[in-house]
Order: sequence, then C-alpha cells, then structure tokens
Amino acid sequence: MSREPQLSAHTARIARIDITHHQLELDPPFPASWDSQPRRKFPATIVRVYDDEGRMGVGSGDVMYGFADYQHLFIGTDPLDLARHSAVLDNIGFHAGRPWPLDIALWDLAGKIRGEPCWKMMGGRSQRIRAYASSGVHRHPDAMADMARHIAERGFAALKIRFGRPSLADDLAALAAVREAVGDRLELMVDCNQGWRMPWDTTEPWNVATALEVAGELEKYDVYWMEEPLHRGDYAGYAALRRGTTLRIAGGEMTRERYEFDQLLAYDSLDVFQPDVACSLGMEGLRKLAHAVEARGKVFTPHTWGNGIGLMANLHLTAGAASAPFIEFPYDPPEWSIARRDFMLQQPIDIDSEGWLTLSDAPGLGLAIDEAALAATLSSRSTYA
Ligand SMILES: [Mg+2]
Repeated sequence: MSREPQLSAHTARIARIDITHHQLELDPPFPASWDSQPRRKFPATIVRVYDDEGRMGVGSGDVMYGFADYQHLFIGTDPLDLARHSAVLDNIGFHAGRPWPLDIALWDLAGKIRGEPCWKMMGGRSQRIRAYASSGVHRHPDAMADMARHIAERGFAALKIRFGRPSLADDLAALAAVREAVGDRLELMVDCNQGWRMPWDTTEPWNVATALEVAGELEKYDVYWMEEPLHRGDYAGYAALRRGTTLRIAGGEMTRERYEFDQLLAYDSLDVFQPDVACSLGMEGLRKLAHAVEARGKVFTPHTWGNGIGLMANLHLTAGAASAPFIEFPYDPPEWSIARRDFMLQQPIDIDSEGWLTLSDAPGLGLAIDEAALAATLSSRSTYA
C-alpha cells in the first residue's frame, strides 16, 4: 500500500501569477541611514502564484517591472518543479530584473501542496534562529545608547549599527556610546554600506586604505563583524582587508550571480556571506550556496532588509539550510517599527524574550496576509516617495 498518496495524486498546474504594488505612507518619514532622502513611503511588491486547485503562494522583494513578458513560461507547468522554475528565473534575471520574489511564492505554494513548511523543505536543520536587531537611523550618541539599552532589554543578543555620518569621528562616537551603554551584553556589528547606493547617490565607495583605517578603530570596540566596507565587486580589496584586520568581514547582500559568489570564495574575500533570497538566486540557489559557504568554514546569514514576507522567506532558508549564529531583524523604533515592516501580515514577526525567532509547522511560509492592509495601500508605483 502506498504511503505517499498525496504526492502521487498531485496533478495541479500553475494557473495564474498576480503582481501588485503597494505604498505605505510613512508619517513621520523614515530617515534610512543608507538613503540621502528621507523615505515618505514604504513600497512593497506582492507576487502571488495560484494553482488550478485554488491554492496560492506569496512572495515579495524586487519590483518585478517587466515580468509580464515572462509569465507565460510558468502558466500550465507543474508547481512542484522547483528546480526547473529556479533555472528559468535565473535566465530571466540574465535578461531582465531580479525575479526572485516569484521563487519565494513558488516555494510557499509548493509547501502548501506538500503540506510541509519551507524550513523542512530546505533541509530541516533547525526550526528556529536567533535574531540580531538591525538598526537603520543615524542618531546622536546619547540616543544610540538609549536604543542599544532597549535592544538588550528586549532580549536581542546582538545589534547592528550604521556608519556613514559626515565624519568617521561621528560614527565612532556613536559606536563608543553603544558599547559604553551595553558593555558585553550585546555583540555589535557595523554596516559601512559601501556596496549599496541609491540610484541618485554617486558617492565613491571607500578604498582599501580607508577600510583598513576604519577596521583598526572597530577592533578597539570588539566588533563582531564589519559589513560592506568596500565596493561589492572589489574581491581583491576585500581579501587584502581581511589580511590586515582581525575582524570578520561581511558582504554580498546585493551580489546577483552564483559565479560572483564563487569569486568571493576563490579570493577568500569574506567571512560572512549575506545574499537575500528576495534579491539573489532564490530559495534553491541560496540553499546550495549556503552549503558551499559553510563547507569553506564561512558564515551564511542573509540580508533581510525589506518587508515581513522577505524576512520570513530568509528565516525559512537560513534555519532550514544553514547554521548561522544570528539573522538580520530590521528593527529601529519608532522610525522603523515591526508594524511598518510587516504591514501586509496579520501576524507580525517578533522575537521571544531571549531573541529567538521560531518558525511554525504550517505549510509553506506559514504567512497570513492582511488583505485589508494591502487593499488600502494599493498603488501603481513601488517607490520611496
Ligand atoms: Mg547591509
């Protein structure tokens, strides 16, 4: 007698893909440290894939502009053929924008067909992962100290702060105030954001000499990792920096291609690899990359700065397929609150009193979408203003 009646009976086909854009009004605005313009809107692109039996998978992340030209490549195909879909999405990423939100939606749908949570489909290594609070605002040192105390009292084990103030002295004063406030209660990461630029921001990234100077200062504060101190493509520069500092070096959050990650491995450029499943390679691609990264003794822990759907996809990927010490949890209230980040979810994502995020046994990503919130924020645009 067959023990697998559900899968052998599976005949569903992909029936439809819907892409909608949304903008949540931000009043007061969010002055993101990596954006020279205060953000008055929080955009979200929601991708839904339906099968012909009425099930729906959801994803989010990139804006998916122009994707309508490629939708026919999925309609009528087997939703469980995830390896094929990943390969087609990789081809679309070569010709057009980053299509990976659809991959997240396909994994959510596949989990619902199989009756299995995505963290188990990813390998089932763990059902939980510890969060680090990822701040996003350049505050006065006193306010940074208050924020860090709040983070420690909330149960987080680690906090990431942002550099990029007008002077390095200002950045170091903020770091010193945080370390003074929390002592060794929090691990501290510093994101230099030199691999990231808004479209209008033509500031040159740091060179190796500057990165080494900053690293020397960060060593004095026992920083857990230094993130994106150079342009994302400066493989040799990263390797030189690693030879000149005792700090862990993190990067790769917007790196697109598997061969680029392989170059980062070949040059021994990074200690911590941070690709985001909403932006690069999708669930299957990053599951494989996580294994390659960990086989080399490196850490895999994604960038997650986006909305709650993208965060949840990264949680399933990382808990299920990797062994990361922490994962990014965007959180810097009041300007960056869980309510803003997860406005499209009925159940916002939050840590327990010891800083852990535990995934459910619900099929797929286990998300309940707040349709009223999405209807109220529907927009023709997916921009920050
Ligand atoms: Mg970053």
